[in-house]
Amino acid sequence: MRRAQDLLEGLRSIYPRERILTAPAELAPYESDALTGFRVRPRAVVLPETQDEVIATVRWCFREGVPFVARGSGTSLSGGSLPVEGGIVIALNRLNRILRLDPEERIAVVEPGVPNLEVSRAAAPYGLYYAPDPSSQAVCTIGGNVAFNSGGAHCLKYGMTANHVLGIKAVLADGEVVRFGGESLEGVGPDLVGIFVGSEGLFGIALEITLRLLPRPEAYRTVLAAYRSLEQAGEAVARVVASGVLPGAMEIMDRLSLEAAEAAVGAGYPRDAAAVLIVEVEGEEPEVEAELTHLLEVIRSSGPTEVRIAKDEGERQRIWKGRKGAFSAVGRLSPDYLVQDGVVPRTRLGQALREIERLSAAYGLRVANVFHAGDGNLHPLILYDGRKPGELERAEALAGEILRMCVRLGGSITGEHGVGVEKRKFLPEMFAEADLAVMRRLRRVMDPRGLANPGKMFPPEPVAATVGA
Ligand SMILES: Cc1cc2nc3c(=O)[nH]c(=O)nc-3n(C[C@H](O)[C@H](O)[C@H](O)COP(=O)(O)OP(=O)(O)OC[C@H]3O[C@@H](n4cnc5c(N)ncnc54)[C@H](O)[C@@H]3O)c2cc1C
Repeated sequence: MRRAQDLLEGLRSIYPRERILTAPAELAPYESDALTGFRVRPRAVVLPETQDEVIATVRWCFREGVPFVARGSGTSLSGGSLPVEGGIVIALNRLNRILRLDPEERIAVVEPGVPNLEVSRAAAPYGLYYAPDPSSQAVCTIGGNVAFNSGGAHCLKYGMTANHVLGIKAVLADGEVVRFGGESLEGVGPDLVGIFVGSEGLFGIALEITLRLLPRPEAYRTVLAAYRSLEQAGEAVARVVASGVLPGAMEIMDRLSLEAAEAAVGAGYPRDAAAVLIVEVEGEEPEVEAELTHLLEVIRSSGPTEVRIAKDEGERQRIWKGRKGAFSAVGRLSPDYLVQDGVVPRTRLGQALREIERLSAAYGLRVANVFHAGDGNLHPLILYDGRKPGELERAEALAGEILRMCVRLGGSITGEHGVGVEKRKFLPEMFAEADLAVMRRLRRVMDPRGLANPGKMFPPEPVAATVGA
């Protein structure tokens, strides 16, 4: 078996020395993603600047049997971009060019390392934008969004990443370069773009992504309703859905997350609410006004203690800044926290929130809830203190109970954060063995040696020829 040093020499035929990181201090920032409880030191991190360099790296990995992990900005909350033992990290942030923006076709062709928000910024002069808006959108990359089929507040009306990717050029794990899909909404044959989206870096690396752009809505109206209980806010969501109104976004924040966001951003949220519901309608002016009237009727019938309508764009932005900054703001309340991501049918939201409150009391750990209520996509943030013996384990056990509840209620173990290493043990609770076998078969076709991000989503598989230590 060849020694690690010899193997790294292979990388030097692809990269100048300064774009291969091997020193412990250089590797440290790549040892984990945003789920910092898991850490693995990679053998090396490479910083490609061109698609050809990525292709050459993947081909080299395939030849040498070296596992690799594609990494965008490392904001994964499920250990999806955690390095693998003995492997390399291919960090894609420098592939951050918008290659083409065609306002007439309403498409953008981008490299994978482009931050999500940059696409909307580039499209803004044409009255267009890119709809999926994760709360991390200023930082996270389109490549990471594609791998996780990421969502965001406005995915309620427009759908997740999968609904906005028209084409993908990728290098598969065996070094083959393929193009799936194209530039139009109409595809031919099986939906291979759809298969790649959500594949969590297990099939290969997206090199170029064709995104659908949408015309920016002419008008927005944002409503904030305060409730005496979290459950009541959850039930209001079911009422809005049943009323036939289709808001652009519908989000809930509970008391703890409101407190944290208020301290961080000063969004002006009501001080004594147990929960607030943020609902936004958007579209053409007359349609929005009609929807708003209907929406206010429904909301007022759901028992809120206060209802506000954002007076201007400044107030609207403050509401959203508080919501989008809530995850990081929760860091003020506790030394550590786990962000969980699960889905329940929207009609069961009230029930799910009640159960989370019960579990929180039973485990003696505080849980803050801030989530995409319109999708039934829960984000309980479990607060713990990692310095106290056993507390992390208790937090993980509580997180597991919440995921099982989601499955029991007819939902899913992840809405948008991927399975990663964190949730792979729950996969068999959602899928039958035959379903999992098909997924594994697909993985083997795309990645015969099991080198692309091994150990994620599925339990670890033996790598065909591993590297010597
Ligand atoms: C504060 C905060 C808020 C968040 N809010 C949201 C939210 O509202 N909605 C949401 O969906 N997520 C959210 N996330 C999670 C995270 O930001 C998203 O999952 C995001 O898509 C990850 O992008 P990234 O560039 O950081 O990817 P990384 O973490 O670097 O990688 C994620 C996965 O993508 C794979 N990958 C990366 N690039 C490629 C590529 N080019 N080809 C193939 N695979 C690739 C990696 O191997 C890994 O499996 C949030 C995270 C944080 C920290």
